[in-house]
Amino acid sequence: MSKFTLGIIGGGQLGSMLSIAAKKLNIKTTIYCDDQKAPAQNFCDQFINAKYNDKDKIYDFAKKVDLITYEFENIPFETLHELNKLKTVLPKPSINRLIQHRLAEKDFINKLNIRTTRYVYIGNKEDLLPLEDFLPGILKTTTMGYDGKGQYPINNIKEIDSLNIDFKKEYILEKLVKLKKEISVIITRFNNNKYEIYEPIENTHEDQILRHSKIPAEISKKLFDQSKEWAIMIAEELKYIGTLCVEFFIDRNDNLYVNEIAPRVHNSGHLTINAYNVSQFENHVRAVCSLDQISIQKLSNAEMINLIGKEIIPYRENPNLNDKQFLYDYLKKDINEKRKMGHLTTLK
Ligand code: ADP
Ligand code: MG
Repeated sequence: MSKFTLGIIGGGQLGSMLSIAAKKLNIKTTIYCDDQKAPAQNFCDQFINAKYNDKDKIYDFAKKVDLITYEFENIPFETLHELNKLKTVLPKPSINRLIQHRLAEKDFINKLNIRTTRYVYIGNKEDLLPLEDFLPGILKTTTMGYDGKGQYPINNIKEIDSLNIDFKKEYILEKLVKLKKEISVIITRFNNNKYEIYEPIENTHEDQILRHSKIPAEISKKLFDQSKEWAIMIAEELKYIGTLCVEFFIDRNDNLYVNEIAPRVHNSGHLTINAYNVSQFENHVRAVCSLDQISIQKLSNAEMINLIGKEIIPYRENPNLNDKQFLYDYLKKDINEKRKMGHLTTLK
């Protein structure tokens, strides 16, 4: 296996952590990213900087690798589809196409009789105007959203004009859930009914960006079991190969809703690096590269805090950690407000 090269599309922190996991398994990584400053270039074996629709560069990339995966979902379907003709792409491009479109994703989940928030397709401003009774809600672009980007909370119809919504794009309007908690379940599927599933992780968001994750989640046994069961149903229905994350809402009446699916490793699973014998990243590489499946075991409870923007600075200057704390600096050169710069995991 020593000469095997895994191609990864996307060069953010998830790409870095996938590269580190691959290295441990004696697999080389080539990262393809449109960002010249992509932090994952510090961790991979080879780095290609080009646009995601650059046909020649994509072809070169495919020639250099044995198999292709990706660390984020906003990749043009055409790119994954073309690549898949040259080398296997996992998760399958069709899965990414489904999940990257919020409407298709939610329709898919509802067909499995799994609850989501209520939602309406919004193709133009006129679709929105009669929906006063549906509010408060959140208008979300159907594609390309992440970390709350492309989202507009709306309390009443009168606000619409002041929000400068670009109606050239398509949206869904989601009913606002009165949240008690958010959790996520990360599952790595290897084959039919062969998977490793981590226990539910409790997440706290600030300004729609993940701030804090912890295990165990403080939830009832019923929600613990139901969230895992739904994650398994989704992964099986998709015939998914690799690591997938299901984000859930829990409302004040303890109803569980799927918020969204991430067809990739996930920020809330960073704590699996230190809290489990096998991390979500290693499991992803194992599954897509057809390596052995190892039963996962929790080694410790844990919590993770994202270091956003300038919060990384004191840790860079003087980390001052104890032996239960693990600092990850993503080595991003530009510090921007709201940008995830690193994280700190503490074992409990
Ligand atoms: P992204 O694709 O940017 O992660 P999400 O749909 O997951 O977008 O929304 C980000 C966060 O915003 C959620 O984790 C949650 O905290 C809040 N949020 C989004 N939709 C709703 C909703 N319908 N009701 C309540 N909170 C929501
Ligand atoms: Mg989300």
